[in-house]
Amino acid sequence: MTTARRVPIAVPSVGEEEWQALREPLETGWLTQGPKVAAFEEAFAERHAVAHALATTSCTTALHLALVAMGIGPGDEVIVPAFTWVATANVVVHCGATPVFVDVDERTYNLDPTLLAERLTPRTRAVIPVHLFGLCADMDAIRAVLPEDVLVLEDAACASGAAYRGRPAGGLGHAGAFSFHPRKSITCGEGGMVTTDDDALAEHATRLRNHGAAVSEEARHRSASAFLLPDFDEPGFNYRMTDLQAAVALVQLGKLDHFVAERDRWARWYAQELAALDWLEPPLVPDGYDHAWQAYVCRVRAGAPGSREELMEELEGRGISTRPGTHAVVELGVYRDRIAPDAFPVARALHRDSLALPLHNRMGPEDFEHVVASLRAL
Ligand SMILES: *Cc1c(COP(=O)(O)O)cnc(C)c1O
Repeated sequence: MTTARRVPIAVPSVGEEEWQALREPLETGWLTQGPKVAAFEEAFAERHAVAHALATTSCTTALHLALVAMGIGPGDEVIVPAFTWVATANVVVHCGATPVFVDVDERTYNLDPTLLAERLTPRTRAVIPVHLFGLCADMDAIRAVLPEDVLVLEDAACASGAAYRGRPAGGLGHAGAFSFHPRKSITCGEGGMVTTDDDALAEHATRLRNHGAAVSEEARHRSASAFLLPDFDEPGFNYRMTDLQAAVALVQLGKLDHFVAERDRWARWYAQELAALDWLEPPLVPDGYDHAWQAYVCRVRAGAPGSREELMEELEGRGISTRPGTHAVVELGVYRDRIAPDAFPVARALHRDSLALPLHNRMGPEDFEHVVASLRAL
């Protein structure tokens, strides 16, 4: 008897090399942030063409750290797309600032620059464009609308390896924040990264990441008076990545370009094979964008053989896991009450009709063929 084919929505591509990489920190006993984190940061900064990369515990803490280091606080407004993972808005709230939502473009799923100007106020301090599913936001169009003093923080959670007009994600604004959660392009379980070209911002974020310590752990251990505790000038956090995670992440980073290239080939294949289904709209890749394909998110359009939920259930029955693309933050209990029910029509439509198909580096040709054949048979 043959077992039915199962195609999960995402499976991390980790194996023997990641397993071996854990030996060194375990053997040396340096488990917290140390030489592996430093090596990972250096390699990540080089790959994404930025001056500084600071590893953190997640993208959520990377976003929070960057906002606090930028001085965002009570009374400030920060612009966030209405269609994104809830963390993008939550971190603004955790700074004591107010998230101000802007609707997204219905083809790219990213912040719509044409709607940005009307949401700016004298209190707007920053914008967080999200590179959703691995496609960069239209950063030049966004920057063109903003006053000089408004800061841009890229939510690049899905965008390791993505590029915009030839420039890698993470260096397209004042700072960027990446994720290494298993649903993202490369993983170390949980983990994140702040990127920036701004020396002062990097220095401030470095202190805040380590409780606000005026001297780093490494510098203290190197100094003659390593036994003395440093001074703490402001209340910081413990957002440090461990060397165990960094050892794994470093191996994963070495595979990033291969992962993205492979997913790009299959994404093109999906688009070609699914073109005949007029009820399924595949994701757009505008000219000048290098998509990193963290996820392959389509839209279920009129004429579909069922609602999105019915299609998802039907596919699940054929062994294929799908997911909604993401949620509209403005539909969630935490933010819903402050928002008019008819605002953000595109985000709300995507909340109902976006559909992520399986696309990851553990899929083989039979898996992709099974997905396409199942969609055609619906
Ligand atoms: C996954 C994700 C996050 C959160 O990343 P974590 O590393 O899980 O904290 C934030 N923003 C977006 C757009 C995401 O997709």
